[in-house]
Amino acid sequence: MSATSASPTTRATARATRVAVLGGGPGGYEAALVAAQLGADVTVVERDGLGGATVLTDVVPSKTLIATAELMATVGGASELGVRFPGGSTPDSEPAGAVTVDLARVNGRVKALAAAQSADVRARLEKEGVRILSGRGALDGPHAVVVTDGEDAGARVEADVVLLSTGSSPRTLPDARPDGERILTWKQVYDIQEMPEHLIVVGSGVTGAEFANAYDALGAHVTLVSSRDRVLPGEDADAAEVLEGVFRRRGMDVMSRSRAQKVERHGDTVVVTLADGRTVEGSHCIVAVGAVPNTGGIGLEEAGVWTSESGHIDTDKVSRTSARGVYAAGDCTGVFPLASVAAMQGRIAMWHALGDTVAPLKLRSVASTVFTSPEIATVGWTQAQIDSGEAQGEIVKLPLSTNARAKMLGIHDGFVKLFCRSGSGTVIGGVVVAPRASELIFPVTLAVEKRLNVDDVAHAFTVYPSLSGSVAEAARQLHVLGE
Ligand SMILES: Cc1cc2nc3c(=O)[nH]c(=O)nc-3n(C[C@H](O)[C@H](O)[C@H](O)COP(=O)(O)OP(=O)(O)OC[C@H]3O[C@@H](n4cnc5c(N)ncnc54)[C@H](O)[C@@H]3O)c2cc1C
Repeated sequence: MSATSASPTTRATARATRVAVLGGGPGGYEAALVAAQLGADVTVVERDGLGGATVLTDVVPSKTLIATAELMATVGGASELGVRFPGGSTPDSEPAGAVTVDLARVNGRVKALAAAQSADVRARLEKEGVRILSGRGALDGPHAVVVTDGEDAGARVEADVVLLSTGSSPRTLPDARPDGERILTWKQVYDIQEMPEHLIVVGSGVTGAEFANAYDALGAHVTLVSSRDRVLPGEDADAAEVLEGVFRRRGMDVMSRSRAQKVERHGDTVVVTLADGRTVEGSHCIVAVGAVPNTGGIGLEEAGVWTSESGHIDTDKVSRTSARGVYAAGDCTGVFPLASVAAMQGRIAMWHALGDTVAPLKLRSVASTVFTSPEIATVGWTQAQIDSGEAQGEIVKLPLSTNARAKMLGIHDGFVKLFCRSGSGTVIGGVVVAPRASELIFPVTLAVEKRLNVDDVAHAFTVYPSLSGSVAEAARQLHVLGE
């Protein structure tokens, strides 16, 4: 049962409950919406803007920038499909020079879209009767939040239930201080007016890979500095290999096993010094080496809220912290740094706190995507877990090169991989590497969530021709393996 089916009794209980939410990202605002729906008296304290970093600086801006990059990648492959560009170099070659990107305009669109989305979140909260306080907040014990600076400085909110959802910030290196002009965090890139001539991206995790891919497609020369053997060390190895191959083929310099130690600015250039003494010179550098939780200076210890060594707030599966009545959701908990998970943790917290029926957080069917070209989408158990014996299962991998629709669309890279339990054939996970893999992963997610059998998936109709036909084909092949 969800909040929509809250019983009159639940609403009556909640009506007397005062809820304070610290941080207005998806962890916070989704919780506020549930609490308001259940009849609680809700206040959100937010220092930067509703929607949080998710809307203002992280997910929404990066995916909006990537939308333009994606279009450029499509344009790049258009001549193969018979498209000719006036002013393009030669009829058969790339449309080099014919299509370029106005970065100032792209960034203007990014910021406008983020601001509009933030305004939508605020309007929705106000419509539901949520009180919004602007400024930095902190706990004053487990049952009060105070606003320490900003527009509503001095305000104090007494609460029966507090939700902490303060998010995280980019990790910086001691010798690579961002200056907001040439040495940048991922939050600062939208102020660049001219396309970087040579962008160095330090860090080849999801954020680093997404920005390297985007700027490469937008027309910058990109060097990706990775301390590991390959890009995306946390992702499916086959998927990462495909992406690294695509990066190199497109002309990106991928430097593996290269740990950046220092980033310095010299006028209009930046110099990245590696641990082995080599240097790389470029025009701009994005430092994407992880995030740290925003949990300092908000009164956690005094309120009895325990944190881990990394500073993340300890929570259980219904988002409770060590302090009675205090819950936490999102990146400040370090459970799974995704907007979708933050939102679910926030909702679960309120369902639990306000007495609605609630199921503990389940991470097994969380789908995630690396928004590169091609995209990499994953859900469920991984091949690494199956290979190591942690999970027991069968694997089928189908290259998209054999899919009729992929051929028509000029898609050369990518695959569908499906995992099922040996014997029962229950779908336990999968990987899709393809354009719009973020959409194609959904049938696999549904199968994992609902514990469908490979035959259930195989027997459903898919459109011919379609990329999703490869998902059904993989399921059919697993039936043969399972026999
Ligand atoms: C570049 C990038 C791209 C990403 N892309 C995706 C994606 O495509 N899909 C996806 O699911 N996830 C993505 N993520 C992850 C996603 O951004 C986070 O998981 C999500 O933002 C977590 O939401 P949250 O509510 O915990 O925190 P946030 O959205 O960061 O919100 C926290 C809010 O708390 C406020 N706050 C902090 N301290 C205080 C205080 N003391 N007082 C008042 N307010 C305070 C902050 O101002 C902020 O608004 C991406 C992350 C990055 C860095």
